[in-house]
Amino acid sequence: MERRRVGILGATGMVGQRFIQLLSNHPWFEIAWLAASDRSAGKTYGEACKWKLDTPLPKHIAAMTVQPNVPEGSTVELPTIIFAALDADIARELEPKFAAVGCAVISNSSAFRMSKDVPLVVPEVNADHLALIAEQSWRKENGGKGGYIVTNPNCSAIGLVLALKPLEEKFGIESLFVSTMQAVSGAGYPGVPSLDILGNVVPFIKNEEEKMQEEVGKLLGKLAGDHVDALDAKVSAHCNRVPVEDGHTECVSIKLKKKATREEILAAWSEFAPLRHFVQDKHLPTAPDQPVEYDEGVDRPQPRLDRMRGNGMASTVGRLRECTLLDWKFVVLSHNTIRGAAGAAVLNAEVLALLGKLDKLSVASVADRAAVTA
Ligand code: NAP
Repeated sequence: MERRRVGILGATGMVGQRFIQLLSNHPWFEIAWLAASDRSAGKTYGEACKWKLDTPLPKHIAAMTVQPNVPEGSTVELPTIIFAALDADIARELEPKFAAVGCAVISNSSAFRMSKDVPLVVPEVNADHLALIAEQSWRKENGGKGGYIVTNPNCSAIGLVLALKPLEEKFGIESLFVSTMQAVSGAGYPGVPSLDILGNVVPFIKNEEEKMQEEVGKLLGKLAGDHVDALDAKVSAHCNRVPVEDGHTECVSIKLKKKATREEILAAWSEFAPLRHFVQDKHLPTAPDQPVEYDEGVDRPQPRLDRMRGNGMASTVGRLRECTLLDWKFVVLSHNTIRGAAGAAVLNAEVLALLGKLDKLSVASVADRAAVTA
């Protein structure tokens, strides 16, 4: 199969680097375009990026020229699929420009996650919400040349909803209390100053608690025509930054609508394989075989030991026990820049490819591009 050309916007950052790691040998996608800020444009990727991952930067990627961050400035053919890893304010300005010229923008940013017509998707949880793409206005404008935006959630919400989805399906969720211990790589590069985080815990991450609460509602909500009805459950989040490199740990207490035994909860997690039905057993390269893995160890999951389960795409759960406040409590762990960011977006793109939603895209001509983004 010929690989589809893709671009990465925000390619030099923590999430952008993960995109390069995950896509440089991907069987369906080929990196053809890279962009970052004006500081990086025109340099080779090797010059522009401080590579921080523990696998070598591929030589052919290091040699690529970083493109301007707008569709009309590209010196190479603009791909129709753009993975985006930008801060929210920048994403709010740039992502619509790429959607307007015809690209599928597969975004990590919070800028459009809660927009009524933008799917916020974790494929194992709510792939049906991708139908919202048809509602997006940049698609109806510009003579049908418009593309669309699809988002993945906040890095803490992703690991959590994977563990919650099977419980919501089988027993219903009434209320939820979650307290996170989030890795420093979640703050991007260079991120939290070392003097703030070494030997310390910072009990504040700007906007994170609000994002977790509202995104969990949309992810576990029901598609109702042109919008999603949020899950009717109370969610309270505490978010903390801890001196861990990668991997977000979350302590969860939950009240279920229907009483469940320990065995029933464990069975709900181990039987959870929704993509098998959704894509009819077709293989998705980035999907983990077991999206939720339960570890019986009394002191698991732990970020250093468990974050790479399912190639960094599994959510590991442990320590299921009765809660004296609500019904049950447990611990969830997931890799924040793989399952929580770049891997999540790549999996979204794989599902879009299987659904045929990457097939009919075409990018406007250079003259039209300047007109639609003006
Ligand atoms: P980061 O390390 O700070 O990287 C930011 C990227 O944006 C860099 O490539 C930077 O390029 C680029 N950039 C800055 N200003 C720009 C502009 N005006 N135009 C185009 N590109 C520009 O951040 P990150 O951790 O990768 O996060 C990126 C996004 O993903 C954020 O929205 C974040 O909330 C979200 N996210 C992150 C995680 C995580 O665990 N890190 C998880 C989920 C979601 P230069 O190198 O040229 O400055």
